[in-house]
Amino acid sequence: MATGTEFCRITEIPGKGVGVVASVDIPKGTRILCETPILTVRHASISELNETIAQKLRAMTKDQQVQFLSLYNAHTGSMPPFVGITKTNALPCGSDSPIGAIYPTICRINHSCIPNTMHNWNDARKQETIHAVRAIQAGEEITISYDAGQVSDVRKLDMRASFGFECKCPLCSSSPAELASSDARRREIQRLDDAIGNPFAMMSQPIGMLKNCHAIVKLLLEEYGESATVLLARSYYDAFQACVAHGDKRRASVFAERAYRMRLISEGDDSPSTTKMAEYMRSPNLHPSFGSYSTKWGNAGGNMPKNKDSAEFERWLWRESV
Ligand SMILES: [Zn+2]
Repeated sequence: MATGTEFCRITEIPGKGVGVVASVDIPKGTRILCETPILTVRHASISELNETIAQKLRAMTKDQQVQFLSLYNAHTGSMPPFVGITKTNALPCGSDSPIGAIYPTICRINHSCIPNTMHNWNDARKQETIHAVRAIQAGEEITISYDAGQVSDVRKLDMRASFGFECKCPLCSSSPAELASSDARRREIQRLDDAIGNPFAMMSQPIGMLKNCHAIVKLLLEEYGESATVLLARSYYDAFQACVAHGDKRRASVFAERAYRMRLISEGDDSPSTTKMAEYMRSPNLHPSFGSYSTKWGNAGGNMPKNKDSAEFERWLWRESV
């Protein structure tokens, strides 16, 4: 099979059809792939999509046409083939983007509920990147997550309906007791996430918001381990925002630094989200909501402990000791 890069290659994976495996040992944080879309489409009706894709296919090179047409179709018989292939494989160009894109190698990467890489649309490069979020050994399959953190029953139905497979990743193959613990964590993560997203929490209950952010960080680490990177970055950014809104530059800077480190691993130093976090780490007061709710946290809130790796530092950071 064609397409390979210095880090990985497309190959047959027993029981899964085609997938991507590491050709060498890959250190954590490595950019494994960086690809430009061969096709982009906007959300539209099936008939409109079919027409748009057919038109774009005609403009592609022969190689690209072969790459597109050889992708898996989980919707055979239920929708036109071009649309079925696109719906099975397209990745959104950014988390809220209405545009989906197809890539020659990245679309071959299979799913795991606890993936070893993160995929990210880098809007500065106009490319999709794949970064190792933990060390990956030569021969190991490269995986990304197609799910949004759902519990096992919902995930199972979604994977079957959207992608036509049953997930056999280590989490989905774990014992019923382990799966029940994972589901309980995922429900709690969702509940905390909803509470953090409440617009009044940041204004009137910033301490409660920080407490929820701390709880979610611990749960994310338990549930996803090293694969928690982007989710952790979001939670650290929530904690950053609570501190910024009440004028606490010192803690805001620490949270921005933590979000920056997670983005650096999973997206690289040229990702706009990474550079933004680096900027806030240096100057939290540049954030548009700096001091917007109050300045009551200002420099109050105890002396910052010198040892950043200590339990004392964590208690200070999350305002558990003031
Ligand atoms: Zn799974």
